[in-house]
Amino acid sequence: MDTQLNPKTAKFKYEFYNTIGIDDWNDWRWQLKKRLQTSEDFSLFLDLTSDEKDCLGSNATRLNVSVTPYYASLIDNNNIQDPIRKTVIPVSNELHVDNDAEYLDPLAEDLNSPVPGIVHRYPDRVLFITTDFCPVYCRYCTRSRIVGGKANFDINLNQWQKGIDYISQHCEIRDVLISGGDPLIYTDTQLQWLLEHIRKIPHVEIIRIGTKIPFVLPQRITHELVEMLKEYHPIYMSLHVVHPNEITLESSNACTLLANAGIPLGSQTVLLKDVNDDVSTMTELMHNLLTIRVKPYYLLQCDPVFGTSHFRTGIDKGVEIIQGLRGHTSGYAVPHYIIDLPEGGGKVSIDPDYLDNQSGNTYEFTNYQGTSGFKYVEPE
Ligand SMILES: *Cc1c(COP(=O)(O)O)cnc(C)c1O
Ligand code: SF4
Repeated sequence: MDTQLNPKTAKFKYEFYNTIGIDDWNDWRWQLKKRLQTSEDFSLFLDLTSDEKDCLGSNATRLNVSVTPYYASLIDNNNIQDPIRKTVIPVSNELHVDNDAEYLDPLAEDLNSPVPGIVHRYPDRVLFITTDFCPVYCRYCTRSRIVGGKANFDINLNQWQKGIDYISQHCEIRDVLISGGDPLIYTDTQLQWLLEHIRKIPHVEIIRIGTKIPFVLPQRITHELVEMLKEYHPIYMSLHVVHPNEITLESSNACTLLANAGIPLGSQTVLLKDVNDDVSTMTELMHNLLTIRVKPYYLLQCDPVFGTSHFRTGIDKGVEIIQGLRGHTSGYAVPHYIIDLPEGGGKVSIDPDYLDNQSGNTYEFTNYQGTSGFKYVEPE
């Protein structure tokens, strides 16, 4: 077995990809080329349920299926309830659409898009959709109307240039969030072109990259990539991660390279029913993220996209998780719990309520352990 691989992946590779050389396995282009997409692909290592098989075989699912061999190796093939399996293999639940509560574009991004690919919702920052491709498609994706090659605009250099022109013409934009899809699927040269053009705009203070690649295709995070990225500082990264099983030797090496290049790393975790909706899983995830130098940033309530009712929890669940973290562990491990309001309201954060009552300048609180009667008196 190879020491460059975590034990689970090494075992998987030994069982199912034994003829593949380690250099191919560790090459992100090989991983992309060999992504698993069909029922036959997955049957190689998984006993698919008949529901999964039907879904993989039908054209009815809204979102393409794709899983890198590396990410597939993290699925425990003996466990139908495996958390990663649930997030990437389609089931018929996703065909059930609740038209009263679910949306094709829950955040009304298309309405806030002045030019193709730019979402300008908050005054001082924009989201820049630079691709509609991801190495792995998450079944709960907020942008399932776009990703998997479904953008209703062409994504090419001309579209990028229109986005750059828009940012140049709007002096109030000080923060550009490069997203998609997953922008790190581009080559170093393509990314460098984009970063160079955004960095040249004098009013852009910070650039952020939103990506899941360190967890689904960690092979993409190369020495050459980070050497290039660090020329365009300040660059921040928001890493999409949902379960402790995603934190492996490979993803931790990827995060080390990024952190060593001076890129502050924050996490974005979608709260998902039967995947990560309990205090102990979340605590483990947040602790593990801190050990690989990723600061928990957002815990996101799952957006009401078409076909996601089986993933969405109540809001009380998110509050319970924050309550289970705050005070019980390092404050650094506690993300903000966020609901991105449907129809374009923007993000709001929700906190457990520790304030019991207020009279005059005296406030009375319950602490993190549930003990009440703690008073704080404000100055007159
Ligand atoms: C989430 C989001 C941002 C970034 O929000 P922060 O709270 O600053 O991380 C920017 N634009 C859009 C459209 C978003 O959805
Ligand atoms: S990585 Fe992000 S954009 Fe891509 S499918 Fe998952 S949630 Fe959607």
